[in-house]
Amino acid sequence: MEASDVATCNAMNMCTSREEIVLQNLQAMVPVDSLIGKTVGLYFSEERCFPCVKFTPKLISVYQRIKQMLEEKGGEDFEIVFVSNDRDQSSFDSYFATMPWLALPFGDPTVKSLAKYFDVQGNPCLIIIGPDGKTITKQGRNLINLYQENAYPFTVAQVELLEKEIEEAAKSLPRSEYHAGHCHELTLVSEGTGGGPFICCDCDEQGSGWAYLCLECGYEVHPRCMRPVAPAGSIEGSKENVYWKLGRDVGIFSSPFFGHFNITFVSSLLN
Ligand SMILES: [Zn+2]
Ligand SMILES: [Zn+2]
Repeated sequence: MEASDVATCNAMNMCTSREEIVLQNLQAMVPVDSLIGKTVGLYFSEERCFPCVKFTPKLISVYQRIKQMLEEKGGEDFEIVFVSNDRDQSSFDSYFATMPWLALPFGDPTVKSLAKYFDVQGNPCLIIIGPDGKTITKQGRNLINLYQENAYPFTVAQVELLEKEIEEAAKSLPRSEYHAGHCHELTLVSEGTGGGPFICCDCDEQGSGWAYLCLECGYEVHPRCMRPVAPAGSIEGSKENVYWKLGRDVGIFSSPFFGHFNITFVSSLLN
């Protein structure tokens, strides 16, 4: 056991040495013992922080899917404990009322000790602790954003497995494609071929590894967010086609594919 592991155990003992420290959603106190043997997420958050308010609903749906998955599987359990940085009891109460998990009571001194111990720099932050009480990762938030419920149990082995699966799946993806939300052609890139960590322009979530990137303007989306369209299927595509054809020939008027839109569009240009 490394020194950091011992310290982590101590951080959890700091909680577990006290009885009835965790508060349940319906305001009933539950003993910290109930967390023993579970994978636990310490969720540092506060109602007045915009990224927190944005992240919490996502965490709730991922939490519910993980719980359901584990229930079907049996034998393992997952819990989240809200570690509030809210400025007053009423903010805490209204924010916590939206959450389906546990919380440390508002103003509990353990809140400060945990934030200091885990060196929490900003909210929201999700620290994952394993069933053995050791820290698994401080990147819980990123892993939820990247992999949703598949991130569970948040271990290095699980992340490697997911990355491998993504690599495999990428092999069958088209090299380039048009996306319903963008006018230019997008090219499949990976970290090795011009990609890297990015924010998806379609869902606003972060991504890494494989992505579809517009080489013209930098628009980038997750492969899972692609809604493939035929190049001429978008309005932008048709317009470009009209301009191009207008400059080249007048065959556009007989094109059955473009139909009414292009005829009126070209008419308006000619008038
Ligand atoms: Zn996306
Ligand atoms: Zn573009």
